[in-house]
Amino acid sequence: MTSGCEHALEYVYSYLDEEISFFHQSRVSAHLRTCASCTSAYEFERRLKALIRERGRTEPPPELFDALRALIQEEREGGGPR
Ligand SMILES: [Zn+2]
Repeated sequence: MTSGCEHALEYVYSYLDEEISFFHQSRVSAHLRTCASCTSAYEFERRLKALIRERGRTEPPPELFDALRALIQEEREGGGPR
């Protein structure tokens, strides 16, 4: 993490929705150019959003949430010490 990560991550969602001012947009995009970890977070969100948009719905399908929940659960169970 480099300095500015917190700021960038805070605005990534709004950035994707283009709901932030030009000032914040340029700050976020400038940070994304220099920070790999925020770029991958941004890419993940962007792909998720594109996927949802592709389905042609404004509401994400409930199956998506089930799939995500299963993934998170799996990660918790597999990754943690036992
Ligand atoms: Zn960053």
